[in-house]
This record gives sequence, C-alpha cells and structure tokens, in this order.
Amino acid sequence: MLKLSGFIVGTILGSFLGVCIDRMPREESVVAPGSHCQKCGAQLGVLDLIPVLGYVLTWGRCRHCGERVSIWYPVLEIGCGLLYAGALGKHGFTLSAANFLILISLAVVAAGIDLEHRVIPDRLTIPWMVVGLLMGAFFRGFQGILSRVLGLLACGGLVFLIAVLSRGGMGGGDVKFMALVGSFLGFLGGITSFVLACIIGAIVGVILIVLGIKSRKDEIPFGPFISVGTIIVCIFGDRIIPLVFPWLRL
Ligand SMILES: [Zn+2]
Repeated sequence: MLKLSGFIVGTILGSFLGVCIDRMPREESVVAPGSHCQKCGAQLGVLDLIPVLGYVLTWGRCRHCGERVSIWYPVLEIGCGLLYAGALGKHGFTLSAANFLILISLAVVAAGIDLEHRVIPDRLTIPWMVVGLLMGAFFRGFQGILSRVLGLLACGGLVFLIAVLSRGGMGGGDVKFMALVGSFLGFLGGITSFVLACIIGAIVGVILIVLGIKSRKDEIPFGPFISVGTIIVCIFGDRIIPLVFPWLRL
C-alpha cells in the first residue's frame, strides 16, 4: 500500500517536476499558466494531465493540433513514481522520508535542467539549502542544524576546491548543488553522494568515449551524476554510507 501510494504521488509530482524542468531555465512561473501544448498553446484538459495515462490515452499527441508530446514526460513520471515508491517503501511515512523525498525531487529537476541547458539555476539550490538546514532542527534540534551546516560547507567546499583546481571541469552550479545535498544529507551522506557521482560519472564518461558518442574534449555535465549519487544515498544510504566510511561502522 505504502509503495503504491508512493508511486501514484510520485507520478503526479513527476509531471509537475517536468513543468519545472521546462520553465525554470526560462524564468517562467511553474504554477501559472496551467500546462499547455508547446505548439498550439491549447490548455490541457483534466484527462491529459493524468500522469502516464494522459499520454497513453492521447497516443502521445496534442488533442488539438496533433503535435507530438515528448516521450520524456511519461518516462519522467514513471521514474519519479518508482523513486517515491522506493523511498517510501524504505523509510515509511516518516520525517526522514519527507527529507529524502524533497531532495530527490530537487535532484530530478537539477538533472533535467543541467542535461538540457548546462546550468543549475540558483533558485533551485540556494533557497532550498535554507530548508535543508532548518529541517535538521526537526531531527536533532540545534545540533541537527549545526551538523547540516557542516555538511553544506564540506560538500560545497570540496566541489569548490575541485572546480578551482580543475579549471572548468565543474562549475558554480555544481558547487551550489553539492552544498544543497550536504544541507539535506549532512557530512556523511553528502560526501558519499559525491563519491558515487564521481564513480558513476567516470564509468559513464568512459563508456560514452569508447562508443564514440562523446570525444575526450566534450564536456559532460556533472550535475546529473550528483543527482544519481544523491538519489542512491537517499534510498540505500544505510547500506552505502558504511562502504565509503568503513571506519565508522562500530
Ligand atoms: Zn497542440
């Protein structure tokens, strides 16, 4: 039941996150006007707005002008459904789950925008860092906030250092994104997310070069790898964090 409701909420939220990915880089409001066809501007009806099903019922086309709707919308909706189901199945209806679900949602949007536009907007990271820090108070009061400040500074600082040393490998958006992750996951979770991001990024990078899809000179955005690492820690952190920090296992 928990997983099913997580899946349904996830698909609905995924559809909203898709709107955020489309509109945030263009500095548009994510709530008004309502969703409309990109080509003819027709307002989408209630049926069209049902995640996944709306896409299937219309055969992936606009009811009015027949324009193709990107397959990425239903993919994103199903993906978010699975992530929400996974996180809720693991953590139940708890405060931790809420913490993780907010971060997973932010990570999905950051990955989508970074893939498409090679930026991670400040309004996706900076205000939410404050939310992440304050949420620490619900867990361990003032100490909770402090430990998250430490996570924010450590994660942001580490990527800032790498960005300066590598001169262009990572950008300011990545620094702020990692600081955001640190503010939600604290030091251990944040650093583990970054380690995973580097490992996955290296593997994917090699594969893309071997397959000839990218050359050595092409820049591959790093944000999506931070997102993947972060999401893995949000769902499987209890098993993965001890692998990165084995000396902490008592
Ligand atoms: Zn249309």
